[in-house]
Amino acid sequence: GGDSEAPEYDWSSFTPYNPPPYTARRAKACFVILVRNDDLHSMRATLRQLEDRFNHKYNYPYVFLNNEEFTDHFKELTTSITSGNTSYGLIPKEHWSFPSWISEQKAADTRVKMKDIIYGSSESYRHMCRFESGFFFRHPLMDEYEYYWRVEPDVNFFCDLQYDPFLMMQERQLKYGFTISLFEYRDTIPTLWETTKRFMEQRPELIAENNLMGWVNGTDGDYNLCHFWSNFEIASLSWLRSKQYMEYFDYLDKAGGFFYERWGDAPVHSLAVAMFLKKEEVHWFEDVGYYHGPFYNCPNSKALNKFCHCNPKDSLHLSEHSCTNQFLALPNSS
Ligand code: GDP
Ligand code: MN
Repeated sequence: GGDSEAPEYDWSSFTPYNPPPYTARRAKACFVILVRNDDLHSMRATLRQLEDRFNHKYNYPYVFLNNEEFTDHFKELTTSITSGNTSYGLIPKEHWSFPSWISEQKAADTRVKMKDIIYGSSESYRHMCRFESGFFFRHPLMDEYEYYWRVEPDVNFFCDLQYDPFLMMQERQLKYGFTISLFEYRDTIPTLWETTKRFMEQRPELIAENNLMGWVNGTDGDYNLCHFWSNFEIASLSWLRSKQYMEYFDYLDKAGGFFYERWGDAPVHSLAVAMFLKKEEVHWFEDVGYYHGPFYNCPNSKALNKFCHCNPKDSLHLSEHSCTNQFLALPNSS
């Protein structure tokens, strides 16, 4: 058994500079990937990198989700280059359609009005954002897992990971991990902030005492637009399945902004992090070299960058477009 042979490691002093030794232990965790059949080849490029940089040693399973049936061709060519088990899920109709209280006419009018905003005229993008905000973690294929790593086709991974990030999250009781943070387009979320404030006023008992609202509060009382980029997330599923998160999602869903505006799952997850978590439960994966167009995360220090092939100068955290330094500057709650 791997456990008894594993050397002692003190998780309380974990840093990426002091990674734990390899063990045979695994978390209950998976990769979760929302993807279309048409994205097969960009998907495979990403899977190849994920396997090479990390998963060939760990063999974590993959859950692929789609609003249409995956083709046998897609299944075959993704299973063939992954070391972990693969499963393929169809998203139930109720999780990818207009709920009863939404006016489809008003939603269509919105898409015309927002045609000059990125994805503003897209209906499918809105179903995607609503699904990633409120439903992926409730798919039956996710039931057996406690942590997930969200992956998208076409993203790149640059660094050999020196430890198991799922086990790290579990051992340190972390709830949310990110690589890149940045500012949201205000035009996509005109009323998300006031809706969130109203939720907080109505359900103050759900808000964490030492929360991270300081990271999202603007000096003018408005949302400062800081959010974690959700195309990469390593996070706790029990956190998303919690009463707090589910109530917040339902409240937003009733408010209609997924369709009458263009609320993204990134600001939704981030505002939930800000309300419900404390700083010690949120982790910046500075050591994960990552690219999702057009932004990079790339470790700066030689001790971490030596495992990578990315240029630290490209890393968004060094620029004023990032919110990561503001996150790091927040005080711990204890
Ligand atoms: P962006 O990152 O905001 O530009 O949005 P993407 O186009 O990358 O979409 C985000 C995620 O949702 C990716 O994992 C896509 O593969 C997935 N996605 C987006 N639209 C659809 C869709 O209509 N069907 C499916 N199955 N996946 C989608
Ligand atoms: Mn993307």
